[in-house]
Order: sequence, then structure tokens, then C-alpha cells
Amino acid sequence: MKDISFSRFGTRLSAHCGIIELMDDLGEAMTSGDLAMMGGGNPAVIPEVATLWRKRLSELVESGGIDAVLGHYDPPKGNSRTTAALAALLRREYGWPVSAENIVVTAGGQTAFFLLFNLLAGVFDGGGHRRILLPLMPEYIGYANLGLCADFFRAMPPRITGHGERRFKYEIDFDRLEVASDVGAVCVSRPTNPTGNVLSDSEIEHLRRECGKRDIPLIIDNAYGAPFPGIVFEEIRPVWDEGIILTMSLSKLGLPGVRTAFLVAEPRIVRAMAALNAVTALSNNNLGQALVAPLLESGELLRICREVIRPFYEAKRRRALAWLEEGLGEAFPWRVHESEGAMFLWVEFPRLPASAAELYRELKREGVLVVPGHYFFYGLEEEHPHAERCVRLTFSQPDAEVQRGMALFGRTLRRLHGVSHR
Ligand code: PLP
Repeated sequence: MKDISFSRFGTRLSAHCGIIELMDDLGEAMTSGDLAMMGGGNPAVIPEVATLWRKRLSELVESGGIDAVLGHYDPPKGNSRTTAALAALLRREYGWPVSAENIVVTAGGQTAFFLLFNLLAGVFDGGGHRRILLPLMPEYIGYANLGLCADFFRAMPPRITGHGERRFKYEIDFDRLEVASDVGAVCVSRPTNPTGNVLSDSEIEHLRRECGKRDIPLIIDNAYGAPFPGIVFEEIRPVWDEGIILTMSLSKLGLPGVRTAFLVAEPRIVRAMAALNAVTALSNNNLGQALVAPLLESGELLRICREVIRPFYEAKRRRALAWLEEGLGEAFPWRVHESEGAMFLWVEFPRLPASAAELYRELKREGVLVVPGHYFFYGLEEEHPHAERCVRLTFSQPDAEVQRGMALFGRTLRRLHGVSHR
């Protein structure tokens, strides 16, 4: 085949894009060992948590439960024991009025967003076109290429507040936010990838009201949030009602390999998502569901999140910030977004004498992988200045690697800013 041509679907989804570059780099860095990996969103291997997963696997093997895990197709909506256990946990913990009818399993959060976004936005019967509104840019790189038609997102620039010389924070600019009639759903990640921002309870409440007025769902991407993995350093109130679609994933619990996520939503959306699962994949991977089911039932999973996972990332964040400050020094301007959750530092260089892509290449040459800021800005009417002067650094990898990466990062940025000595 000399001239194979792809459909619009194929061309759109296989075109070069940030998420492909990111996942390729991640794979290369995880196997080569030479590059300091501060690029992807791979969770840390936390010894106590890794031991728990090994123990659960052994239990499944010893009890013979593994036979059903390997040998059965689960229903496309998900395993009924696991979805009932999750619903019971959400009722116990938060008092939400949910049952297993409100929960559907997907092959990871990324697949959930592909199906969900295209369920709620795109071309509609009668010729209408609806979009996904992202009210706070920058936003998760993985959404950017999920739309099956052009002009899929509408996005809003942030309101920026400075917090002293070295810190800043993005907030939703509600004065400019308009949930127009062509919006099919509003979506936010909370905590936010890439910035580590955590939208406040009042910002979420405000979004909920705006979505309620238009009778469209508010999607809250809870990949890093409570109850699991619970990588949130602020006191916030998790919320759900029938106007909200909450996505949760097992990935950041140290299980990205099992490709399992849950959506909590009203039953019509649950049924539609289960149908999409059946058509595209027959059923889900059931290993992750089998691993966590008894831990959801006993509540042990929440103890692990509160006592092990959250303190682990909080301590890593503290060390990463200290190494960042040490690496960059005082000789040129930089500031970092308030780190309120997740596993990233979002750093701005107001006088960066290079584009974000050039900075990425310089850093890769020096042996450190980051993700340049421009990938996290899409769907905006105008380019945003932060796209070219911010980068995202992941601090989940082993301390020695993060420390080495921060030193290389600092050295490269000092060189680019013309500061060679301190
Ligand atoms: N949403 C956010 C904000 C993420 O950071 C990620 C992964 O990094 C995902 C969704 C998708 O994760 P997964 O498909 O592993 O559940």
C-alpha cells in the first residue's frame, strides 16, 4: 500500500499532538533511565501502596477469584460488586444519594473523556453544533484532541492573582464567563492538571448554578481528588448531584496499568456510557475493579489515601519546591502557581528569551523532560501569554531524579537568561 489514506476520524486522531509526544517521551524516559522524568503524569511507586496491590493480587490468585477476573466478560456498565461498593462508600462518606445505577466503569479516565465529550458535544440532529466549555485555561493536555469534529472546545483565559514575588494563582473569570446556548457541557479538572490549582467550593458552586440555568452537566475530572487518590492539600468539599458528572480513576492510586475509571452521573448518562462501552470495547478490564472492591467495602482504601498517599505527595511537593528555588535562584524573574493538589509545579518565566517549544528542546538536550506550556492552552479566541512562558514539572518520580532534574532545569534556565554564575 503506497498511498493509504485515512478517514477524517483517523486523520484527526492520529495527527501529531501534545498527548502523543508526551506519552512517547514518557515511555522513552521510563525505559532509558538517562533522562530526568519531570514530564508525564506517571504516579509514584509508593512502597506501602505497591505492597498492598501485590497482596491483593496474591489473595485473588490464592482464593481462585482470579479465574473469574481473567475468564469473564463483565457487563459493560462495570462489575456489580465494585459499583455497589463505590456507591455505598460515597453515601457513607459524603451522604450523596447514589446507588450502583449512578456509576459506570470505563477503560481509564482518558477513554471516559473521549466517550463523554463526544456524547455531549459535536454535531446534533437538526444541524446544531455543541461545544465543551473549559472555563479555566490552562487545562489538561489530554482533552485537547478528543473531539471528533472541528471547533470542539470553547475556553476561557484565567484571572491571575499574584501571591508575593514567587507565587501566583489562576481563578475563573466569572465576569467573562458565558455559558452560551451552544455549550453541551462544562468541564474542569479539580485538582487541575497542569497547574496544581484546586478550584474553591464557591467557584464550583458558581459553575453548578450556571450549568443549572442551562440544564447542562458540569463535568468534574477528579483524577487526583477525593476520596481517592485524595492528592489534595487544601480543605475542600467534594460535591455531586444529578447535574454533575464526576470522574474518578484508579490510575493515580498507583494503578495506571489496569486502565480503570468510574463515572458518577445520572442514570441516563450512565446507561449511554455503558452502551458506548459495549459498542467500542464489549466490556472493561476487570482486574482493577477486583483489586479495589474489598478495599472500597471496608473503607481501607480511604485510610491508605489519607494516611499514606496524600502525606507522601505533600512531602514530595515540599521538597520539589525547595529544589526548584535552589535551582533557579534569584537572578531573573520566575514564579510558580500555588500547589494545592496533584503532582505538578507550573512555573512561569515572564522574560523567557525562547519559546516554550525551544525551552522544551533545550531541556531535553540537557537530560530533563518537562511539558511546555502551550500544549495546555487550546480553544481560546486569543493566544495567552502564559502559553509561551510556562512549563509543567512533575514531582512524582523518585527524589534523586527530581532533585537532579531540578538542578538541570535551573542550570538551563539560568543559561538561557544569561546568568551563568551565582
Ligand atoms: N484527567 C486528568 C486531569 C489527568 O491528569 C489524567 C491523566 O494523567 C486523566 C484524566 C486520565 O487518566 P487515566 O486515563 O489514567 O485515568
